[in-house]
This record gives sequence, C-alpha cells and structure tokens, in this order.
Amino acid sequence: MNRYLIAGNWKMNQGPEEANELLSGLRTRIHAEEEGVDIVVCPPFVTLSEARRILNGSDVHIGAQNLHHEEKGAFTGEISASMLTQSGCRYVICGHSERRDLFGEDDALIAKKVHAAQAAGLLAILCVGEHLEQRKSGDHEAVVKQQLLAVLSNLNKEDAARLVIAYEPVWAIGTGETATPAQAQEMHRYIRSILDETFGNEIAAGIRILYGGSMKPANAQELLEQRDVDGGLIGGASLDASSFTEIISIAQQIDK
Ligand code: PEP
Repeated sequence: MNRYLIAGNWKMNQGPEEANELLSGLRTRIHAEEEGVDIVVCPPFVTLSEARRILNGSDVHIGAQNLHHEEKGAFTGEISASMLTQSGCRYVICGHSERRDLFGEDDALIAKKVHAAQAAGLLAILCVGEHLEQRKSGDHEAVVKQQLLAVLSNLNKEDAARLVIAYEPVWAIGTGETATPAQAQEMHRYIRSILDETFGNEIAAGIRILYGGSMKPANAQELLEQRDVDGGLIGGASLDASSFTEIISIAQQIDK
C-alpha cells in the first residue's frame, strides 16, 4: 500500500493577509506525517511565503497551483519551478482542469510543465479527468489515457516514480457531486494499468493516484478505502481547517 497523500488546493482564495487563521489552524491541528500520511497545501503564489513562515517545522508541506515551464526570462506574470523551490514548495499541481478549461492549457504544455517541475526537484501532481459529456458518451477512459500519455511519454522511469497523479472528473469538481467509490476505483485501476504498460509493474504500483472532486469528511472514507485510491486532492473542503484535518484523520485510520 502507498502512503496516503492528502493535498489541499486553495485555488484563488486566501491572500497573505487572510490566510493566518487557516494556516494557524492547520499548524495546531495536524500531526500526521509520522502517522503515515503526507500532507500538502497549495495556496496562491502570493501566500506561499506566509504559508512557509507559519507551517515551518510542521508536518504540512507547501505546494503551488501552477508554474511556467521555462527557467527564467521575458514571461511577464509567470513563475518558474526554481522560484517555487526557493519559496519552500515541495509540490506543484500541473494541468488542473481549471487551467485546461479557463486558461487554454493543452496536453503538450502540461507535459512541459511536469518536466520542468520534476527537473527542479518538485513533485508534480498531474491532474487528469473527463467532462460530463465524455463520461456520458463512454469516452472517459480514452480522454484520460490521452491526457496521461502526453505526459508519460516525456518521462524516464526515475521521473515517473516521483510523479503523483490526481484523477479529477471535471463534473465532480466544486459541484458537490462525487464519483461513486466504484467509479473512482475503476478509473484509478485503469490509470494504474496504463502506468503499468508504460513503466512496468513496480513503478506503476508505487505511483500515488489521488481522487479529486468534492471530497469532504462525509465521503472521504468510502473513497480513500478503495484499493487504488492513494489520497485526495481537495478544493473546497481544504479551506476549512477542521474539515481538512478530519479527512487526514480518516486517511490515518484506514487499514488497507
Ligand atoms: C479541485 O479543485 O482540485 C477540487 C477537487 O475541488 P473540490 O474539492 O472543491 O471539488
């Protein structure tokens, strides 16, 4: 069994002057790493230094929600992988569906981002997932396969072993609607089979596949106890210290 990873995606919430309560709440409540769960929160870029200050020495790692794939240069408004490591980040989310849908990020760009993140020593959390109409038409596996292969074909085995994947059905993000545990397990199993075909069984078994899409304390147990679900990427519920901590406690208590 892989060590659980519970990740919070704050999206465009909690600026540096607003985040103190949430960060302090996490700082006091979370003592998880020694109990078998990795924890990461991904605040907006401008809140990273405040997160680093308050969470320093705690069990909570810091991640970013995006990066630019170039190292530096004339890319106004962008942030590079090395800037993220300098800001204390250990993780970075790549290819979130909001980046794909609202900001036009395609598979080729996302592959470059994952590569740049890994090259800088960050742990990339690659998001994949289908839209509702793609699920209804039965194309969900093909969609996810294409999103995955665009990135995996760029990685050597060593980099692949450090990758984290988040399966996030777009129809379940921020909607209150979750995939059923059976739907989640089926897709996670499918994703692992693609990893297996590409990198072999040993690496595939060790890559963590998170579920994302309206995960909250009320549904975390049934999702996290699925065989191929190795954690959660949590949006809305990560903005509340007690809900986020509760999900972590649920993960700690699952014995798979
Ligand atoms: C997300 O943004 O990655 C996400 C899963 O959001 P929510 O938990 O709010 O559905």
